Amino acid sequence: MKKVSVFLMLCSVLSLQAQLRNNDVYEVTEMDNSRVRSEIHIPDIDGYKTLKCDFHIHTVFSDGKVWPDIRVAEAWQEGLDAIAITDHIEYRPNKETLKGDLNESYKIAKRAGDATGFMVIHGTEITRSKPLGHLNALFISDAMPLDVEDPLEAIEKALQQGAFIMWNHPGWPDDKSTLYPVHEELIKAGKIHGVEVFNYMEYYPVTFDWSKNNNLAFMANTDIHGLINTDYGAGNKIRPMTLVLAKERSVESIKEALFAKRSIAYFHGELAGKQEHLKALLKASVKIRIINEKRAEVTNISDITYRAVSGNNLYILPANKTVLLTIPGPETVFTVENCHTGNGEKLTVTVSDFDI
Ligand SMILES: [Zn+2]
Ligand SMILES: [Zn+2]
Repeated sequence: MKKVSVFLMLCSVLSLQAQLRNNDVYEVTEMDNSRVRSEIHIPDIDGYKTLKCDFHIHTVFSDGKVWPDIRVAEAWQEGLDAIAITDHIEYRPNKETLKGDLNESYKIAKRAGDATGFMVIHGTEITRSKPLGHLNALFISDAMPLDVEDPLEAIEKALQQGAFIMWNHPGWPDDKSTLYPVHEELIKAGKIHGVEVFNYMEYYPVTFDWSKNNNLAFMANTDIHGLINTDYGAGNKIRPMTLVLAKERSVESIKEALFAKRSIAYFHGELAGKQEHLKALLKASVKIRIINEKRAEVTNISDITYRAVSGNNLYILPANKTVLLTIPGPETVFTVENCHTGNGEKLTVTVSDFDI
């Protein structure tokens, strides 16, 4: 009797799931993935929230292939916390077809973001050939005044709006990462605040040193033009992102954190950032339980697999897994191979850096 009633209950639940509308229209609710979000597990550190952001995104309002609200849906579903819409000012192949000024793509994306509680940042891309190259102005209030002949004037107009200026893809399109005098002057004057050490599918090792030596924010972004899933695919390939160490979950807080240069570039399992930030992230990701004087259980609670080397020994801490390890001496120095602090420089830690 009991079995029968459980069966009937199950049937009624199933029929409810398949008949959410009425007898004429059956909706297969399980097929709806639009309200399902993947979670990226990267822990908060040192009292800051670790926000997953993409500060370089195009739409049909410049040379992208998709409508702005799709950008929000993609990023929300993939577990990000914020995106910036950064359509080119100077290159808009669809401008005869589409209505709206230089702020339109942001406005459309912002409306979509507000509907899901997702943060959308107002940005734009100032686009010139090298030596200046491309620069994103983030946290602007109006892109229209930036539409001027002289790119240095455009930067000034953005700065007047309180913008954060990011130097985009320094190694593109000529496969040379060159720090030209114009960049040196802008950096010296505090008019470039961050640099893309990673863009789309390529990174520029020399820029790790620029960030380190000039105190620029380390950034990794997609610069996506097509669909995220078309370019990066599904499965375990994860889009590049900038991890921002923000005081709270808000656009203002992201802005404050970027100007304070609290960011880490995260791309294809690699991290680039300041030694102190990378060390704090590693410490927050790794939990150690001592079993006896020789062995410990090490749990990596993050989605980032860490690879560390000490002498001839390679230690791999797989994402979201626990491994049994022989405890090395407290002062043994490890080089964390996938944590870049400079060009050819890696994060170094000792066992005594961890809370055991
Ligand atoms: Zn560009
Ligand atoms: Zn771009």
